Amino acid sequence: MANNCPDYINDLNDYLDGGVSPELCAEIEAHLGQCQNCRIMVDTLKQTVKLCREGQEEPLPEALQTRLKSLLKERWNQKFGKK
Ligand SMILES: [Zn+2]
Repeated sequence: MANNCPDYINDLNDYLDGGVSPELCAEIEAHLGQCQNCRIMVDTLKQTVKLCREGQEEPLPEALQTRLKSLLKERWNQKFGKK
């Protein structure tokens, strides 16, 4: 099992935003293919981003992105524990 999930958390946001390089994108997708934890996080993020974007076409404001990232880390630690 991959133990580098926290490394991906910051990238997942950009990944959903389409803001990662093709190489990183492939890397993340490969990781998602073998890591249920991160798949759950991506699903959660997707829903959150969708909710945040409803009614607006603009990218997420910087502050919201930052907030989302810390929320994500928090959730992740709550859900899967930090060792
Ligand atoms: Zn993972």
